[in-house]
Amino acid sequence: MMNTKKLKIALQKSGRLSEESHKLLKKCGISFSNGLGKLRTEATNFPLEIFFLRDDDIPEYVADGVADVGIVGENIIFEDERNVETIEKLGFGKCRLSLAVPKNFDYETVQNFEGKRIATTYPNILRTFFAKKNVNTDIHTISGSVEIAPSIGLADAVCDLVSSGSTLFTNGLREVEIVLNSEAVLIANNNLDETAQKLLEKLLFRIKAVNAAKQNKYILLNAPNEKLNEITEILPGMKSPTVMPLAEKGWSSVHSVINENDFWEVVESLKKKGAEGILVLSIDQMIQ
Ligand code: ATP
Ligand code: ZN
Repeated sequence: MMNTKKLKIALQKSGRLSEESHKLLKKCGISFSNGLGKLRTEATNFPLEIFFLRDDDIPEYVADGVADVGIVGENIIFEDERNVETIEKLGFGKCRLSLAVPKNFDYETVQNFEGKRIATTYPNILRTFFAKKNVNTDIHTISGSVEIAPSIGLADAVCDLVSSGSTLFTNGLREVEIVLNSEAVLIANNNLDETAQKLLEKLLFRIKAVNAAKQNKYILLNAPNEKLNEITEILPGMKSPTVMPLAEKGWSSVHSVINENDFWEVVESLKKKGAEGILVLSIDQMIQ
């Protein structure tokens, strides 16, 4: 009989991580339909069963083994330490958990929070943070709309997730301390059976290829042969750059892979060294 066991993955149903989670799976070559309101679906070309859940519930489903793996913000994992394993950082859903104070709060150091009421959805992380700093605070746990707590007199300050900071700004709050940096991660149940483990490895292989590709660019350029040594020196590539003669005598075409972070620097120095016709392409997958 054919083995029909599927890997079960939990994704956020609708929210800040949904779109990127779906995109990631699609880039991994996994197709599925996620019709409106669906709670569960199956991939058509990979043994994967997908559950759409509230992000806060994902760690528990994974810990219980209802789902084998899940995608969730690290902030949720740090707040409710569940029995799950963090497998891979995914590079999206980046945000920070920050302390913010109203404009009239005279803030200089963390000590200024001594004795203050702070509203947050992340009491455990915040408690640990202040314990380490030896500051006593009065933490008020609320489940949402933390940013309005100071204006309605519920708290003196807040600790909330921030990405651009615009929500804080509109509510007259100023970010003063970063408590935690967070991004989306792939988590897994601690006791996966052998089949699930194998499927996870297969998925992880693809995720790593997609994420490596995201950080790199494919670069092609023309170089005069007398400059080839200098030019290939700044283009390490995956092993070494590809160099091919052009139809025009005395010139070569150079192909390589460069890291996105060094991108502009590298392109500038290539131009200085005499490179011409520089083309830069994005890479879909990169297997190292
Ligand atoms: P759900 O209905 O699934 O419970 P939610 O409202 O709790 O959704 P979202 O606001 O969609 O959650 O955020 C999901 C995750 O996105 C957060 O846990 C966090 O990891 C990440 N995130 C990235 N940027 C932000 C931000 N500016 N504010 C809040 N979360 C952010
Ligand atoms: Zn949530």
